[in-house]
Amino acid sequence: MRIGGKDTEGIDSRWIEVKNPATGELVDRVPAGTKEDVSCAVEAADAAFCLWAKKSMRDRGMILFHAAEIVRDQHKDLARLLTLEQGKPIRESIDEVRGYANVLEFYAGISAWQKGESVRLGTSGDCIIVHQPLGVCGAIIPWNMPVLIMGWKICPALLAGNTMVLKPASSTPLTNLRLGQILDDAGLPKGVLNIVTGSGDSAGTAIVKHPAVRKLSFTGDCTTGSKIREMAGAHLKDLTLELGGSDPMIVMPDAAIDRAVEGALRGRFYNAGQTCTAVKRLYVHEKISDQFIQKLKERIDTLTVGNGLGSRIDMGPMNSAQQRERISQMVEETRENKEGTILSGGSTMKGTAYEHGHFYRPTLVSNVAPDSRLVTSEIFGPVLPVMTVPDLDCAIREANNTRYSLGASIWTKDLTTAKRVFDEVRAGIIWVNRHLTVPPEVPFGGMNDSGIGRENGQHALDSYTQTKTLFLGW
Ligand code: NAD
Repeated sequence: MRIGGKDTEGIDSRWIEVKNPATGELVDRVPAGTKEDVSCAVEAADAAFCLWAKKSMRDRGMILFHAAEIVRDQHKDLARLLTLEQGKPIRESIDEVRGYANVLEFYAGISAWQKGESVRLGTSGDCIIVHQPLGVCGAIIPWNMPVLIMGWKICPALLAGNTMVLKPASSTPLTNLRLGQILDDAGLPKGVLNIVTGSGDSAGTAIVKHPAVRKLSFTGDCTTGSKIREMAGAHLKDLTLELGGSDPMIVMPDAAIDRAVEGALRGRFYNAGQTCTAVKRLYVHEKISDQFIQKLKERIDTLTVGNGLGSRIDMGPMNSAQQRERISQMVEETRENKEGTILSGGSTMKGTAYEHGHFYRPTLVSNVAPDSRLVTSEIFGPVLPVMTVPDLDCAIREANNTRYSLGASIWTKDLTTAKRVFDEVRAGIIWVNRHLTVPPEVPFGGMNDSGIGRENGQHALDSYTQTKTLFLGW
């Protein structure tokens, strides 16, 4: 872990092993952080706050900019490390590392044009409204996109003048630690960003409960988010929660079919399906569904699954045995209850190349019953349920028939259809003829059980500040 600008082994001398999900081999080990380690990290962050908050936003932005330069320089090594601990194909790791550099650069860029506000009150006076940082903030992140999500949290928080304690997921802490070191090398003062490795129950809970942590930004499972909200409520902490999703993709008869097939393929199987905004439910209009499903199945059957470090790999392993087991059980349940027809995949990968990794075959299931767990739960893995719908009304109704509302996409050439989906489907982002892309410039987050608050864009920067008013009486 990194506390006060130094690598430390932690107080307890216990370790967490980080294993390669493709081979089961040990990649490295990190300290299992405790409540005491979190206290040290919060103290370091608190001590660094006063000077960091006094720097101009432009100076803080320049450090993010320098860090982006180093990240771009080292992107190949960083991507390799990410694949070793997370499993995704190296191409996707490179995308993610570059995406992280984009986030650093976006916030460095907007630091130059931050404006203040003032209100004139006639003869009684004038008011100046400033946006001040909150203090020490906590960030808790998952294993699926550990690099990008680290950027979404630390960039707006640090740029706004806060200091931070970040906890990576237990299975993917290594690239996060390396990125912490890079920020320090770029000129971040000691203690501004501290990284405590460890489990959710120990280090995670300690961050949530620490009274000096004023805001928490959490990305992860809905159940964990709900627990965190309850714990944070005791100290009235500010919260951003980015939780699960079950994004629908709707394909209309006028859509560009081949483009939509590729959209569904990437939307579902990117990162072995372990993406919050992945296509998790596919609704295809009955006029084109036979043709569409046939084409999609053919494409799925061409995907090459293997160790993410290999060449021409389309999909890597899942991140853990536990995640693979969860997905496997859902598919078995569907098969046993005859709740759908498995057209492709539907089992773990067989053969010596796969025996020590958490590989699952890219899976396509058609005619899925509306009450099947494949439709009602979040499927965080490479399994795509596809349903045929008679019209747009039905597609919109089914799309909204969920507790989640993170993203959704509509594939059509007709603007009126797209506008209807935008107006009527509940989600934080609606894509037209696209799915999955989340640029740092625009707010991102969910409605309903998918979360509270927004990351990215100016919105995230504002969420790490509180306003204070100066009243000048004349
Ligand atoms: P998780 O909730 O199990 O873990 C996320 C993080 O929380 C980890 O660092 C974990 O150690 C920590 N944690 C666990 N229990 C905790 C506790 N009691 N107190 C404090 N911290 C605790 O989630 P996961 O399995 O790592 O991630 C997958 C989930 O994340 C999926 O549901 C996915 O949709 C969601 N996700 C959402 C977004 C988004 O932006 N909306 C992005 C990526 C992932």
